[in-house]
This record gives sequence, C-alpha cells and structure tokens, in this order.
Amino acid sequence: MDSHLEGTNRDIAPTTPEGCTQCLANGTRWIDLHKCITCGEVVCCSSGEAHSRKHFEKTGHAVVVHYPNPSWTWCWAHNAYIK
Ligand SMILES: [Zn+2]
Ligand SMILES: [Zn+2]
Ligand SMILES: [Zn+2]
Repeated sequence: MDSHLEGTNRDIAPTTPEGCTQCLANGTRWIDLHKCITCGEVVCCSSGEAHSRKHFEKTGHAVVVHYPNPSWTWCWAHNAYIK
C-alpha cells in the first residue's frame, strides 16, 4: 500500500464544494477537480491552473481523489494512481 495514504481520509469534507478553492479566490477557471484527502481542499487538475500539483508542492499533501466522484486516487509524490 502507498505510504502516502497514512493520515488521509477519502470522506473528508471538501473546503469549497462548489469548485477549486484557489480558482474561486483568484477568479480563474478550472476544468476538472481533485480533492486533497489530507485537508479537504478542492483543487483543479493540470488542464487548468494546476492547483492540485501546486497544493502538493506547497503543503506536501500527496494524495488526491477525483472530485466530486472519487473514482480514482492519485499520488503526486509517486506520480501514479493508487489502487
Ligand atoms: Zn505515494
Ligand atoms: Zn484551481
Ligand atoms: Zn491538502
């Protein structure tokens, strides 16, 4: 199992259920969303402002799920899906 899953919670409440927290603050647009399962921040994927990757670089929170439908789990540290 991926060690980055330690301390995460797939059911954590999203900080901004309506969209990417940073994009909402900046007025930028997102296409697809992830949710950080360490702190619950909703972040956008690399097709937009890439706040998902920036969130990892800033906080070290490596694991995100697709949002709002958590159909997959991604680890930025490993650059790989977690099965
Ligand atoms: Zn990992
Ligand atoms: Zn964003
Ligand atoms: Zn986070």
